[in-house]
Amino acid sequence: MAASRPPSTPMSKIERAPTLTPGGSSKSKEEKIFVTVRVRPLSKKELAMKDQVVWECADSQTILYKGPPQDRAAPTSYTFDKVFGQSCQTDLVYEDGAKDVAMSALTGINATIFAYGQTSSGKTFTMRGVTESAVSDLYKHIENTPEREFTIKISAMEIYNEDVKDLLKPGSGSLRLLDDPEKGPIVDKLDEQVAKDKEHLRHLISICEEQRQVGETALNDASSRSHQIIKLTVESKLREVSGCVKSFVASLNFVDLAGSERAAQTQAIGARLKEGSHINRSLLTLTKVIRKLSSEKRSGHIPYRDSKLTRILQLSLGGNARTAIICTMSPALTYVEQSRNTLFFATCAKEVTNTAKVNMVISDKQLVKQLQMEVARLQAGQRTADHASPSEILIMEKDSKIRQMEIEMEELRKERDNARLQLEELRKKMGDKQV
Ligand code: ADP
Ligand code: MG
Repeated sequence: MAASRPPSTPMSKIERAPTLTPGGSSKSKEEKIFVTVRVRPLSKKELAMKDQVVWECADSQTILYKGPPQDRAAPTSYTFDKVFGQSCQTDLVYEDGAKDVAMSALTGINATIFAYGQTSSGKTFTMRGVTESAVSDLYKHIENTPEREFTIKISAMEIYNEDVKDLLKPGSGSLRLLDDPEKGPIVDKLDEQVAKDKEHLRHLISICEEQRQVGETALNDASSRSHQIIKLTVESKLREVSGCVKSFVASLNFVDLAGSERAAQTQAIGARLKEGSHINRSLLTLTKVIRKLSSEKRSGHIPYRDSKLTRILQLSLGGNARTAIICTMSPALTYVEQSRNTLFFATCAKEVTNTAKVNMVISDKQLVKQLQMEVARLQAGQRTADHASPSEILIMEKDSKIRQMEIEMEELRKERDNARLQLEELRKKMGDKQV
């Protein structure tokens, strides 16, 4: 079966009926997913149990196993783009692990930041801080770039038991996924709101947070089995009337995944996936997709369509997006198996290549504007003629006369050639008669 690759460009709309440059800019950048690992401090529970710290960050990229001897096949050293130790603050995790990818959205490149790890390893803690810092930086950039006009829109969803719920519009029920021929998979009727400013965006994000907490209390343990996606759409265009009619548009996703201990369980249970069972189809499919994409021969079928999460995030997994994954883990010996699973996932993820493009949109409105500018330019040329000096007018008149005479000469030449032809024929006839 042919590989189901992500569509080349998410065809977002800026104006009512835009004309899109096919596939965005011709330049696409191939790069691997940026993978970092964050080890949190021991929790109160782990401290109370006198749990042993068995993971240590040897340098900024290496994490070592320092616990009692284990299965000989298990590696004791892992290398990633960055590793963050127990004392590391979220600000630094953001700076070194997510900022560069997140800020790409300002220049029309889709970006996704994931947190992956077992329950209580620090995913939500990390993603909250990362989202907050990214929002601050987005608005800092907007303030420092007065020549461009930015629009930021937000939508948010939760995927629980393969049900997609709108976090911005509580009570809207389960939402359907549709395949848009231009945009790829979209969530039908998902509410999207325009953020008026930084404070408004923060407020909208806090509504999503509250909504998640409502879900957590209603459904015991739901938080560790649900995925949350906050999606910002960042659009920008030049304020000035200029020759450039292109806008940038990109989505920036913040994804807080379900606890990955379930993924390990599901692998043990096998493929007995039933609707409504405790098995997390989305997380299982995500790990499958990552494993398939990371294998050397990635020509096989990639099962994006097997789960809601992978369908929604298709572009971010080996497609038109820059992606950063922050894998979180506990340092405790008790969770060594879960941590190894996380590190295995991280090792696969760093082999996945994405091909991000700059997504440019030309709107009808902007095209009309460009044509209007062209008309204005031609009219200005006409006006220049109207305001010429007497000698310039004389030259223009002479030029015009020369052009007129050239046309007349051309006509006279044609008449002469015709007369010659007629003369030739007459001579021929006369000659024939004499003969
Ligand atoms: P998860 O979302 O992975 O289930 P949480 O983010 O909810 O885990 O974290 C579990 C607990 O650990 C929370 O009380 C959180 O405040 C704390 N925690 C997580 N990571 C850190 C960290 N790096 N430093 C301090 N506390 C942390
Ligand atoms: Mg959480």
